[in-house]
Amino acid sequence: MKEYDVVIAGSGPSGAAAAKGLVNEGLSVLVLEKKRLPRYKICSGIIFKKSQDITEKYFGEIPTSAYVTPEHLRGVRFWSDDENYKDYPFNKGGIGAPNIWRSEYDYWLVKKSGAEIKDYCALTDFNDTDDYILLKAHHNLNDEVIDIKCKYLISAEGGKSVIRAKLDPEFEKSLKWFTAYQNYYEGSSSLEPEFYHGFLEPQYGEVYAWFSVKDGLQVFGTAAAKGKKIKPYLLKYTELLEKKFNLKRGKMIRKSGCIGNNMCPEGKFYLGKNNVLLVGEAAGFLNAFGEGISCALTSGLFAADAISKSIKSNGNALELYTDLTKRERKQTTTSWRLGARLAGRDLMPI
Ligand SMILES: Cc1cc2nc3c(=O)[nH]c(=O)nc-3n(C[C@H](O)[C@H](O)[C@H](O)COP(=O)(O)OP(=O)(O)OC[C@H]3O[C@@H](n4cnc5c(N)ncnc54)[C@H](O)[C@@H]3O)c2cc1C
Repeated sequence: MKEYDVVIAGSGPSGAAAAKGLVNEGLSVLVLEKKRLPRYKICSGIIFKKSQDITEKYFGEIPTSAYVTPEHLRGVRFWSDDENYKDYPFNKGGIGAPNIWRSEYDYWLVKKSGAEIKDYCALTDFNDTDDYILLKAHHNLNDEVIDIKCKYLISAEGGKSVIRAKLDPEFEKSLKWFTAYQNYYEGSSSLEPEFYHGFLEPQYGEVYAWFSVKDGLQVFGTAAAKGKKIKPYLLKYTELLEKKFNLKRGKMIRKSGCIGNNMCPEGKFYLGKNNVLLVGEAAGFLNAFGEGISCALTSGLFAADAISKSIKSNGNALELYTDLTKRERKQTTTSWRLGARLAGRDLMPI
């Protein structure tokens, strides 16, 4: 059975940042990713200033292969109705925020971490004994179950985490879920492509409805509480884009969906148990309007710091991690309050 200091489930930005921090401290690290890499991730792919600074500090310049056209977005344009908007510039005075494909950016990050990576291989179960953790992973390619042993386990699984569900089924049961849906069409529209557009009127979605342009594709989507029908919102929103913003839809290139939960807007963080830590969205780190890369990177780095310090000094990683993330948790929670004020309503009423 193979042994590692740390196994990380998930190769998104939180997993990659945790891996990078741990490898830098000389620890043996395995990243398990259930999808084949580079994997598609539903996202607007905007790298905000904080994410860019952390990326450059720990990983280097974002490779040109990750950028799309337009390469930078000048800001977010929030529409209070179909005629009135207010602009919020990204990166004041700078060239704006990088506009990227998550598949390329995330894959580059995790490769740069220097950790061993097993893709197409999902963590399916684990057992935390006093001395070590035993994991089971399922390799999809050859339908093989792999046993792995480690000292620490990190869940970087995103909003839906099998690790969190096993650690605390009661907490999991208390969560409320929403569905997000996003279309990618060839075509054109009159909406300014160098802005990310947010439509705040509740008739277009229960969080907000968004629009951006990536490599000529018209990318737009919306969200609704799970169990509620998302289609009527999407139809109404598409009608708005067509009638008021001259959206012309050509071939549909992709449609995608995902689920998220109410951990972040309600400040319900779940940081871990014993030698299992949760980072990124699995732990509840997601800012208002769905910006989550910055806190994924930060929490991943904090988890790495907490684990490496604990190994060196025989300390308690979870206590250290809880302490290190205090400010980030506060900022994330505050962002939802500020977001609600800006939108003039509760942003995720689920
Ligand atoms: C529509 C939409 C638009 C968004 N736009 C932006 C944006 O423009 N900018 C921004 O900053 N944020 C954006 N976000 C938020 C951002 O995408 C997330 O907050 C961020 O990806 C969280 O990173 P993570 O590492 O925690 O999880 P993820 O990026 O979700 O990565 C989790 C990984 O874990 C893998 N995994 C899950 N379970 C297992 C398992 N058991 N074993 C192995 N692997 C597993 C998954 O396949 C996945 O690759 C957006 C989100 C949505 C839904």
